[in-house]
Amino acid sequence: MSVLAEIETIVGPKAILTDPSDMQGYLVEWRDKYIGKARAVILPKSTEEVAEVVKICARTNTKIVPQGGNTSLVGGSVPFEDGEEIIISTKRMNKVRSVDVKGGTLVVDAGCILADLQTKADEFGFMFPLRIGSEGSCQIGGNISTNAGGVQVLHYGNTREQVLGLEVVLPDGQIWNGLTNLRKNNTGYDLKQLFIGGEGTLGIVTGAVVKMYPRPKYQQLAMIAVPDPAAAVSLLGLARKMSGDQVTAMEIIPRIAIDLVVKHVEGYSDPMPARYDWQVLIELSSSASDNLADVMQNILEEGFETEIVLDAIVPASDAQQQKLWGLREEISGAQKPEGGSIKHDISVPVADIPEFIKRADAALQSIIPNFRPVTFGHIGDGNLHYNPLQPKDMDKQEYLGKWEEVNRVVHDIVHDMNGSISAEHGIGRLKKNEMALYKSSVEIDMMRKIKQALDPQNIMNPGKLLPDLKD
Ligand SMILES: Cc1cc2nc3c(=O)[nH]c(=O)nc-3n(C[C@H](O)[C@H](O)[C@H](O)COP(=O)(O)OP(=O)(O)OC[C@H]3O[C@@H](n4cnc5c(N)ncnc54)[C@H](O)[C@@H]3O)c2cc1C
Repeated sequence: MSVLAEIETIVGPKAILTDPSDMQGYLVEWRDKYIGKARAVILPKSTEEVAEVVKICARTNTKIVPQGGNTSLVGGSVPFEDGEEIIISTKRMNKVRSVDVKGGTLVVDAGCILADLQTKADEFGFMFPLRIGSEGSCQIGGNISTNAGGVQVLHYGNTREQVLGLEVVLPDGQIWNGLTNLRKNNTGYDLKQLFIGGEGTLGIVTGAVVKMYPRPKYQQLAMIAVPDPAAAVSLLGLARKMSGDQVTAMEIIPRIAIDLVVKHVEGYSDPMPARYDWQVLIELSSSASDNLADVMQNILEEGFETEIVLDAIVPASDAQQQKLWGLREEISGAQKPEGGSIKHDISVPVADIPEFIKRADAALQSIIPNFRPVTFGHIGDGNLHYNPLQPKDMDKQEYLGKWEEVNRVVHDIVHDMNGSISAEHGIGRLKKNEMALYKSSVEIDMMRKIKQALDPQNIMNPGKLLPDLKD
């Protein structure tokens, strides 16, 4: 019996797609950077089915690409072009298994859409703090496998901080039931951490226990114009101090990003009363105190006095608040119509953000005069999306041809400043060899040994995350 016929006996004929048109959406990466081929897309409906399918793959040496919502941006979730791999999608495993209100936890299937999980927490008066632009289609299994970040990391931490337990199908088909809801457990290696951020290279996450938090009753947002990124960093310190650490998000937005959203996305106008080079979005949240508007006002007054604030708008309604968040979320898409953009998802220590921006802008200006820096993102975490946009009069392909050169300049500066070349989106296929330039051989060697120990046949998302071996 062929491998696919055998798999069909486990999942049934409807849960195995082989027609190219049925598979299309599973083969293309979100930014169209990678378009792969696959033998089939398998859609199991339970952990047991995943395990049986993986056992067949292990026995027949069939390579697997685990896939969640396919929203990741580094090519880890799509197969290679040779068409030899199968995709195992967790799409049909989309249930919330149970809710523990006293303990503040949820047990979820890996294929649960992030927005559905948030809604479920909300129904019980809680919140799940992972908030990202792709939340309507990404899945918690994908969030865990990429250790996703988002706008509230500043206060609640990355996905890693939200996970108490995991259920994983290992590359030999065994099921590891690590679905504990313990907050403290010092009994040896914390194995779940290997799979969080593991990008599907060590096993398929099939279930998880995640934390819920009391839903803040009060929130106050402001968009604040600042003279420069250094003032933004000072403002973060001030806001944290004056609010009693109630800052749940802080994003930096440059003038060009507002202009691009207004120009390319319907329904947006410039929210600021005048044109400022830099602005930040600051969100305060609290379950206890309803005076956040006063707290924000005090922060602004102190900011004006110390000249780190130039101007501010404080939304008066939920709708206005959502519009400001909407503007922030639209920045990624609004760059597309302007031509080539060379993306970086970097982090440096928060206090060094201003120096990073200065150094990177100056270095790129010397090799691509008139490039347009679109530098935005999670300044509160030291994480910037540093996306130099092509000069207006340059050919797009000529500009994109400089991708490697630009990456090298930017990543060298990041490395020199003890930063990370991938703060949020992971490594996947896009950055696996880039990572090898900046991680020590000791670290890469440890990663290879872990991979070898858990997946000696190299069937679980091969060719992703780990750098290619040199001849
Ligand atoms: C508009 C937009 C905004 C975004 N904003 C953010 C942001 O603010 N912060 C952020 O961190 N990311 C962001 N992302 C990136 C992306 O949404 C996240 O990386 C997300 O966590 C990926 O989840 P997914 O379900 O789509 O995973 P996929 O893309 O399907 O997979 C991602 C990786 O995990 C593996 N994988 C998926 N499911 C499993 C599983 N069950 N078991 C084992 N391995 C698995 C895949 O093989 C792949 O390597 C954004 C993306 C878009 C398109």
